Amino acid sequence: MKNFDNKQEKTLVLIKPDGVQRGLIGEVIKRYESCGLKLVALKMVIADKKLALAHYSTDPDWAIKTGTKTFESYENKGLPLPGKDPIEFAEKVRRQLVSFMTSGPVIAMIWQGMGAVSVVRKITGGTEPLTSAPGTIRGDYTIDSYTASDVDQRAVRNIIHSSGSVDEANKEVPIWFKSEEILNYRLISEEIIYDVNLDGILE
Ligand code: ADP
Repeated sequence: MKNFDNKQEKTLVLIKPDGVQRGLIGEVIKRYESCGLKLVALKMVIADKKLALAHYSTDPDWAIKTGTKTFESYENKGLPLPGKDPIEFAEKVRRQLVSFMTSGPVIAMIWQGMGAVSVVRKITGGTEPLTSAPGTIRGDYTIDSYTASDVDQRAVRNIIHSSGSVDEANKEVPIWFKSEEILNYRLISEEIIYDVNLDGILE
């Protein structure tokens, strides 16, 4: 079988202001690092409104997806819906997100490796901390819920943003990084993760 070849896949990860303030930078990096992904870019940024808005406007379907996801979550819990129109609701969330993301420093990173987008999403956990699985970053380190954030008219504090698809990653990466900020290098551990024959170990 041909060696499976999406080892160069990149994904954007942001540690949001709540993650930075809660002292979780090291813990978050450790989780992505120890699963075998490679960190190829990293910086601390105080985002302005323009940057935050650009980031949350890359996916034209974002409002419908996010609004629908929220409404489904309310339905599954048997709660009254937080509004009439999911798109209108998500547009309000987008404004709350911009204010959240510009409230303090964030850590912007690019992680690379086989299936990086879905591996990072798995380790990060589902959007709503109340229901994100234990063992994931959001499940282990946050307790927020849509109900709490929607009553308080603020964005859900869930520590991380990570790209939702390869296409989204390709659009998000250039918003946060210039190409010269993305490093090309080899990690010794990649030989164990990807080498077909493991023939470089024995002397
Ligand atoms: P994800 O970050 O898991 O990709 P989305 O793209 O749907 O999720 O939403 C982006 C961010 O918007 C979430 O991470 C969260 O901070 C915030 N958010 C989403 N839905 C709501 C909501 N109903 N109320 C408040 N904030 C929300």
